[in-house]
Amino acid sequence: MQEEPTDPYSRAMNLLKDMESVLSELLDSLKEKTSIETPNVVVTMNDIKEDPDSNVPGRYDPSSETILLNYRADLSNAMHLYSHHIQLVRLGATKYIYISSEEGLRLPWVMRRLEREADHMSTLLIGQLNPRVKIQWESDWRAIAKSLDRIKAMIEFKRKWNVNYDELRGSRSQ
Ligand SMILES: [Zn+2]
Repeated sequence: MQEEPTDPYSRAMNLLKDMESVLSELLDSLKEKTSIETPNVVVTMNDIKEDPDSNVPGRYDPSSETILLNYRADLSNAMHLYSHHIQLVRLGATKYIYISSEEGLRLPWVMRRLEREADHMSTLLIGQLNPRVKIQWESDWRAIAKSLDRIKAMIEFKRKWNVNYDELRGSRSQ
């Protein structure tokens, strides 16, 4: 077995890649039912949102067919973005990009047809998952997310401490 790296950078990168594998495997398990090739997945620690009005902490990029997902996302968020990939495959890239940019430009998130449909499809997809696979996925995903939370908290603590330390020195020299 490979030795665990100790620096937070390598640890975070490894954990994010683990999450990507866990998510790809889950999507692969749906391939039989959807007959759709699994899209690329990138898991990030950055705060992202599909739209300011959306509660999905991620984005689907149609040009690279990539799901970009925050590590704190849940199963329904992941399935929502996977639904966008299914829409792209079904409609064809040109039509999907056209409709999503048209709707994105003119309508609020709650009114976009592609979004409504993705929410609905996401519920259906969750129902299609093998219950054992689903439970296993949720526990694996959460466990890795917790490790990332700890790294993030540690980094934030260190940063805050350094800032306070500098402020303290600044106030002393005045
Ligand atoms: Zn969406």
